[in-house]
Amino acid sequence: METITFKIDGRNCTAKNGQNLIEAAKQNGIIIPTLCHFKHLNPLGSCRVCTVKNNGKSVAGCIVKVAEGMDIEVQTPELIDARKAILEMMFVEGNHFCPSCEKSGDCDMQNLAYETGIRYARFPHLFEDKIVDARPERIVVNQNRCIKCQRCIEEVKTKDGYKVFQLINRGNKTRVAIDYEQEAKLSAAQANHAMEICPTGAILVKGKTFSKPFGDRAYDNKLGLKNISANKLKKQPTNGTKKRIATTSLAGCFGCHMSLLDIDLDILDMVELVEIHKSPLTDIKKFNKRCDIGLIEGGCCNTENIEVLREFRKNCDILISVGECAVWGGLPAMRNTIPLEACLNEAYLNSMTSEEGATTIPNHQDIPKILNKVYANHDVVKIDYHIPGCPPSANHIWSVLKHVLFEEEYSIAFADFKYD
Ligand code: SF4
Ligand code: SF4
Repeated sequence: METITFKIDGRNCTAKNGQNLIEAAKQNGIIIPTLCHFKHLNPLGSCRVCTVKNNGKSVAGCIVKVAEGMDIEVQTPELIDARKAILEMMFVEGNHFCPSCEKSGDCDMQNLAYETGIRYARFPHLFEDKIVDARPERIVVNQNRCIKCQRCIEEVKTKDGYKVFQLINRGNKTRVAIDYEQEAKLSAAQANHAMEICPTGAILVKGKTFSKPFGDRAYDNKLGLKNISANKLKKQPTNGTKKRIATTSLAGCFGCHMSLLDIDLDILDMVELVEIHKSPLTDIKKFNKRCDIGLIEGGCCNTENIEVLREFRKNCDILISVGECAVWGGLPAMRNTIPLEACLNEAYLNSMTSEEGATTIPNHQDIPKILNKVYANHDVVKIDYHIPGCPPSANHIWSVLKHVLFEEEYSIAFADFKYD
C-alpha cells in the first residue's frame, strides 16, 4: 500500500494510504483518546471521544482513513473542551459511583476523565433508574455504567460465532441487551474477555470482580504531576494577618474533615497562617467575621443543608466543594434513582431495623424537610472550586488551599486522587 504524508497538529506524519487515523496516529507517537475504538474491530464511531478536525471539519477520528495532505487537529483548546464535554455527558447520563465500583482503577473511562482533567460535570446528573442484570450465567451487566460504545456487541461471540450482545430500543432508551442462551455458551476466558474489553465497569464476571487487587490495577500507579510538600507553607508570608477558613459538613460522612486533619504535624504550620472560624473543628457555630474560604463537605439532601450552604456563600469570599458528595451528590445521591416515598418507607417502615408494625415516618416542624433528591452544591449556589475524591487526600486538599490562599503553584500527583 502506498505511503502518504499528512499532518497532526502541524506535525508531519507518515502512514499507509487509507489507514485508520487512530492507528496511524499511534504509529507516529500520537494518542487520540477514544473509548469505542478497539484494535481489529471495524470503526464504531459511537463514543465520539476521538473527535478531531479533518481539514477544518469536526469528525470522529476512528472513522477517518488517512490520505495524502490531510491536515488533522487533535489537541486544540476547542477540541479538548469538546472531548471533556462528551465525557462529562457520559458521566451524567449514567450513574457512576467510582468509589464503590468494581472496575475503579481498571476503567478506561475513569482514566480518561483523569487524563482530560475532568473534576466535575458541567451538566446536571440525570440519575435515571437503570437495570443491573445478574440473570446471565457468567456475567453481570450494569446498565448504569454502559456508555453504549458497542465494543461488546462486535467483539463478544460464542465459539460458533453468535453474538451475545445487541443494541435495542432507540434514542435515550437505547441499551445493550443480552442473549441469555448464547451467553450461557461463553467459556470462562470469553466472559473474562468481555469484562476486559468493556471500557467501563458495565460488564463484570461473577465472582471475579475484585480478583485483581487495588494496587495492581491498570491505572493505579500512573503518576501525574509532581507533588508538593506541605512544608512549603513555612515560607509563606503572613504580613501579620491570618487567612480565615470556615468548614461545614452537609450530607457527608465527615470523611473529608478527617482527611483535612490527616495533614498531621503540618497542621502546626497551618495554624500559624490560617485561622479556622466557624467549623465542627472549632465548634464555632455562627459567623461573626467574614471568611476568605469556606470548605463544604457533602451535598444538599435536606432544607437545612440548603440554608447552611447559602449562609456559607454569603459569608465566604471563596467556596470550595470538597469530595464527591459535595461535587455531585456522591453516595447519598444513590437514592436519586428511587422515589422519595419508597426511600422513606424503606428507612422507617420496612428496613430490618424498623420496629415491627412501624407506621410513622418522622415529620415534625423542627426536623429539616428532606429534598426530592440530593443536589450537588453548585446546583444551589456558585461554587468556585471543586476538589474530587472520596475522600480527597490531605495532600490534595492542602495543595488547593495553598493555591487559593497563597497563589502557590497547584500541582497534584495522580496517586493523590483518592477514591477509597
Ligand atoms: S465504570 Fe468507571 S467511571 Fe463508571 S463508576 Fe466504574 S470506575 Fe467509575
Ligand atoms: S456494556 Fe461495556 S462494552 Fe458493551 S456497550 Fe456498554 S460500555 Fe460498551
